Amino acid sequence: MMNAKQYEESLRKLKLVVYLFGKKIDNVVDDPIIRPSMNAVAATYELAEKPEYAEIMTAASHLTGKKINRFTHIHQSAHDLVMKSKMGRLLGAHTACCFQRCVGCDAMNALSIVTYDIDKKMGTGYHKRLQDYVRYVQENDLVCDGAMTDPKGDRGLPPHLQKDPDLFLHVVEERKDGIVVRGAKAHQTGAVNSHEIIVMPTLALREEDKDYAVAFALPSDAEGIIYIIGRQSCDTRKLEEGMIDRGNQIFGGHEALVIFENVFVPWERVFMYREYQFAGTLVEKFAAYHRQSYACKVGVGDVLIGATQTIAEYNGAEKASHVKDKIIEMNQLNETLYCGSIACASEGFKEPSGTYSVNTLLANVHKQNVTRFPFEIARLAQDIAGGLMVTLPSEADFRSPEVGKWIEKYCQGRADVPTEQRLRILRLIENLTLGTAAVGYLTESMHGAGSPQAQRIMIARLVDMEAKKKRAKKLSGIEE
Ligand code: SF4
Ligand code: FE
Repeated sequence: MMNAKQYEESLRKLKLVVYLFGKKIDNVVDDPIIRPSMNAVAATYELAEKPEYAEIMTAASHLTGKKINRFTHIHQSAHDLVMKSKMGRLLGAHTACCFQRCVGCDAMNALSIVTYDIDKKMGTGYHKRLQDYVRYVQENDLVCDGAMTDPKGDRGLPPHLQKDPDLFLHVVEERKDGIVVRGAKAHQTGAVNSHEIIVMPTLALREEDKDYAVAFALPSDAEGIIYIIGRQSCDTRKLEEGMIDRGNQIFGGHEALVIFENVFVPWERVFMYREYQFAGTLVEKFAAYHRQSYACKVGVGDVLIGATQTIAEYNGAEKASHVKDKIIEMNQLNETLYCGSIACASEGFKEPSGTYSVNTLLANVHKQNVTRFPFEIARLAQDIAGGLMVTLPSEADFRSPEVGKWIEKYCQGRADVPTEQRLRILRLIENLTLGTAAVGYLTESMHGAGSPQAQRIMIARLVDMEAKKKRAKKLSGIEE
């Protein structure tokens, strides 16, 4: 296993092609905008080294028996899945942002199920390839970006009917030694902090779309891959001199638009090629795992609740009954989210490949709650924090020899709490509910791992409505 420092050094060796604010950046690791997101991934290495988190953060590889980081593990039991949920909460609370490493883990696990199923039905040899790949990732303790979401163009049209065929990533050439692909993947969490990128189709496909039914893995710096970093609200605060206005002093996340401009993939890295019948299952398996992974937001919620209680105390308002009640409400919502992630994990079951799947219905119910509860928790945090959170002068003014004294005087709360502490906690709440971290806590909660409607469709499909009707009819004496 790598430690955090070794991880950072390993990123320096990559030759990524990255653009940010219209410029190509050569040093991703030290870029002030990207650095906090690297810190968050580094935490997945750092905590794995701590003996007190060993059970949560590490596992024994089913391929080699060696101790590995849980983010590279193929789940072998429901206990493994429960530990994965706990790991999400732990790291969410440690970083208060998206720590990015779950997507690759979810991609490998989904592929470990589906490659086995494809081989069974089609006589292909994908599962062995995937296992070799997983072994490589485990032995080198790598971060994998899991790339599913295509740009999608006209949402009313399937891939092959799009005016521009590249709006879904597809195979453009078959060679003796591999395939060539073109297209893009959008919203890629942690893309430039990854050693590898695992690509999967974005939706269920028909035969006409079989060139789009492709899954593969590549080193993140493979020739032809280009990263364009997404903007986040308040991102340029990271370029400012002071630290207070950032809110979160250490961690952050990033997303990128990843372009695949005629990229070659050798056969040994291809895990699905034109088996369009399995694209839908792969999407569903990945989505279920990633919906479980949204235990991360429970951890971020822990931080936001802690910040809210702190500001209530700094304001001298913590004893007001409505404040106490609102904080209870925040906790109840946050723990309800935790229940969902733990439940879908504990009801995990063994797939034919031996990999453990989460309970798909419960994973979808959990993620549906995640599209709502963080918004309510954030609303209550803003209610308790008060308007100063958004009208507060800058740190530069606070430090100013001319006006700083007035900020010190008029922005204070309780007399025994230094004004600076009040400013710091307000900035953290701002960061989590409006700033760079709101990307992860709110919009990503809405759209990450599939937008709300995607879960509702799955819930409708997975509930056993006939059984429910039968019970109701029996008890009311209806005979049909
Ligand atoms: Fe992991 Fe959560 Fe970030 Fe998804 S949003 S990659 S589940 S931390
Ligand atoms: Fe996400």
